[in-house]
Amino acid sequence: MNPTPEGLLLPGAQPPRLLLVDDQPANIHALHQVFVGSGCRLLMATHGEQALALCRERLPDLVLLDMCMPGLGGIEVCARLKAEPATRDIPVIFITALQDEANETRALDAGAVDFIVKPFNPRVVRARVRTHLTLKAQADQLRRLALVDGLTGVYNRRHFDEQFVLEWRRAQREGSTLSLLIADIDHFKAYNDRFGHQAGDDCLRRVAQQLQAGLRRPGDLVARWGGEEFACVLPRTEAVGARHLARLLETSVRALALEHPDSPLGVVTLSLGVATAQPQLVHDADALFARADAQLYRAKSEGRARACSEEG
Ligand code: GH3
Ligand code: MG
Ligand code: MG
Repeated sequence: MNPTPEGLLLPGAQPPRLLLVDDQPANIHALHQVFVGSGCRLLMATHGEQALALCRERLPDLVLLDMCMPGLGGIEVCARLKAEPATRDIPVIFITALQDEANETRALDAGAVDFIVKPFNPRVVRARVRTHLTLKAQADQLRRLALVDGLTGVYNRRHFDEQFVLEWRRAQREGSTLSLLIADIDHFKAYNDRFGHQAGDDCLRRVAQQLQAGLRRPGDLVARWGGEEFACVLPRTEAVGARHLARLLETSVRALALEHPDSPLGVVTLSLGVATAQPQLVHDADALFARADAQLYRAKSEGRARACSEEG
């Protein structure tokens, strides 16, 4: 038998994080030995609450979970992980001395992907872990692709809509203020007509990355809203701050100095509309979009290359 554990690392990927959970330190030690040199980052927990906390904080790629532990048992830990959106996608493999079909069924019903019986064969454990880490990495990649706009690399409209609803509800609960920016590239049809669609696509990418780089707070999100339009949601942001940011974004895109002879300033510019609401007081989220759109329309009609908001 080959004494060195075979690598579990997927080519090009970040080292996978593996959480080992067992109330017996000797068992943790034995499992730890199985993965030494595997390329995995190992996290360890000796009781259920600690395992849940580590899952929420560190989002491991896989959990090897003991079934019988004092306090919060493995089945309960697994069920709770599967009930929370943030931890639902972490695969769980049970590793237990309870070798009977009833327990195996309970484990799988609780949402586990696999079930390993102690005493275990290290090679079998490694092989099963490798399989599930590969599946997890593929699922992560699909989830990422589903959120991102393929052309520009910023979030897509579907993800924006989902996040917007979450931010709107959060602002309702907190009584906080939320702002929305809608940005549209000026005279973009003429840009495509002059330089071709490929150059138009490159321009869209540059503008999108510039908008992304211009957002500073963790909750701020930019997405490609459609063709040459982008939307930004700014949680906990008052009208003054939103207008300030919109102007910064306008200036920063202009400063890219992307040549555009058919636009009055000779470079690619943006028009932006800004709207702000306190969702606890106004209940119609669609109205916020209509208001931002009205300001965008105003920015276009007042000469483009500017940000407009209701305050001026
Ligand atoms: P305005 O200043 O009023 O916004 O004028 P505009 O020409 O930017 O607006 P209009 O809505 O007339 O045209 C938008 C153009 O954006 C049409 C299309 O050629 C271009 N466009 C939309 N999506 C894409 C895309 O994915 N790639 C490229 N290259 N061009 C796109
Ligand atoms: Mg447009
Ligand atoms: Mg346009």
